[in-house]
Amino acid sequence: MIRRLPEEVVRKIAAGEVVAGAFSVVKELVENSLDAGANRVEVEIKNGGKSYIKVKDNGHGMTKEEVLLAIQPHTTSKISSVEDLYRIDTYGFRGEALSSIVKVSRVTILSKKAGYDGVEVVVEGGNVVSVKKVEAGTGTTIIVRDIFFNIPARRKFLKPAYIEGRMVTEQIQKFLLGKCDVHFVFVKDGEVLYNAPPSDLLTRIAMVMPDAKPREMIKVNYEKTPVKINGFISSPGIWKRNRTGQFFFVNKRPVLSSELSYFLELGYGESKEKGKYPYAVVMIELPPDMVDVNVHPQKIEVKFTDPEIVKDAIRRSVKIALSSKIERKLEINKTGKIQSYGVAKTRSVFKEPAVFETTKEFVSHLSPSEISENLPKFLLILKDRYILAEDEEGLLIIDYHAAHERVLYERLKEEFFDDGLRSGHLMFPINLPADPVSKDIVNRYREHLEKFGFEVELKEEEFEIKAVPVILPVDFVGEVFKEIIENLRLERFKELPEIIQKILSDLACKSAVRTGSRITEEDAKEVIREIYKYGVFSCPHGRPLVYRLNYKDIDRFFGRG
Ligand code: ADP
Ligand code: MG
Repeated sequence: MIRRLPEEVVRKIAAGEVVAGAFSVVKELVENSLDAGANRVEVEIKNGGKSYIKVKDNGHGMTKEEVLLAIQPHTTSKISSVEDLYRIDTYGFRGEALSSIVKVSRVTILSKKAGYDGVEVVVEGGNVVSVKKVEAGTGTTIIVRDIFFNIPARRKFLKPAYIEGRMVTEQIQKFLLGKCDVHFVFVKDGEVLYNAPPSDLLTRIAMVMPDAKPREMIKVNYEKTPVKINGFISSPGIWKRNRTGQFFFVNKRPVLSSELSYFLELGYGESKEKGKYPYAVVMIELPPDMVDVNVHPQKIEVKFTDPEIVKDAIRRSVKIALSSKIERKLEINKTGKIQSYGVAKTRSVFKEPAVFETTKEFVSHLSPSEISENLPKFLLILKDRYILAEDEEGLLIIDYHAAHERVLYERLKEEFFDDGLRSGHLMFPINLPADPVSKDIVNRYREHLEKFGFEVELKEEEFEIKAVPVILPVDFVGEVFKEIIENLRLERFKELPEIIQKILSDLACKSAVRTGSRITEEDAKEVIREIYKYGVFSCPHGRPLVYRLNYKDIDRFFGRG
């Protein structure tokens, strides 16, 4: 029998399409914040976002009436006619995100528009539960709890928290790369993963993909009407074993497209090795009528009306960027000094000098050229947290604990790939409950576990941990062991080398000196030496380690410039 579905059911189905998981809730909410003109957006999630997502912005906010309208289906302030659809410059326009989210979760919306009272609206499964006047600063905070609490069948399809959480993190990374002028803060289960003030793209790339060797990346800057291409790509030789280091934005929207990856890789030509993929952050701009971003409910796929034009532009932009890099190298060799960054010969088709200005800036900020000679001089320890140091160009403030963690991580990586982590036997073995899946993983990855310094015996329902990496404090053994198992389980979703890095960075984190403990001058000097030795300037989680104050800028401040 064919029958018309009740409205209620139709809505729930539609809601499920917009709400594909915690990541899509975060995506929609952050996009709304950006559409509202926010230049600071804080995101916090717990349990992978399945139980708690908070997005707070300093955008223009909403009045009580606007909030109540915004949670209705098909309400939007962004377009009013079909024509508008073709000239949108906001992220949203369908007017279905908020209404879908409130249908399938418990939502608190706190908002204040300048000149109006602040308001707090609580909605559960689409029903408004309370509306209150509240004190608040201008902007909007939305808290989403228990996604799909009222649709158990859908809730079952949410992925485990660690995967949902990772997908949210990846979503945040796209915002970090795509919106450099916005301050983003991202907190996951109480840990600040990103605190990113407005900065240039290369700094953001360093946060998101420290492995891409950002300071060796090559700037792409190409324009051939009607297409503009901008961004950074990795030098030949710096590859990843999959394409997860590639980010594309079309007219500022992040898009997923293996077609674009393919165009990019064409530009590398012969220099690209088989099975290896460049890192890249590529911004493509073209007239709105040449692209259709509207083909997917979450607007992440694109269709080009003329893919050949895009293909040609990307390939050429990459080729030109790569060849200018080679010229630059020659220039350096000739004079023997790294300072003399030559600018590639001007070609009429692409704009450029600015290119090397930024690269050079970045190099001088992050990568001391002669490592041992230019080591900064230790000056002072501040608040048992920061090290003040000095080099020719200015003052450096180094986050000791983050730096220490990074150094540990580098050592562990060396050790791991060398001979495996040094392992020590526990006087009292530690027993942990074993479920079938983890048993299977322990069996399958015994060799890896040993490389991580773990010796484990399988008893009936338990693991007996007999030896652990020597650097790991005993208190953390259980936690880290579980983390490792969890990560190895992830292998289905990620490359093993990435998991190894993740595990090592967790180990480094657990083993590093805790914030608040005393730092001696010796510790400080050692950390400076080591971060310069390894040439690393962000912590394993991507937070920066060094804040630089150039004398140039200080002079300018005091009017001596
Ligand atoms: P869309 O973004 O497609 O318009 P949404 O359902 O995401 O639809 O949002 C509906 C409306 O609610 C928006 O058009 C906007 O007017 C308002 N809105 C949502 N989030 C915010 C926010 N963080 N700040 C200000 N206004 C918002
Ligand atoms: Mg929206």
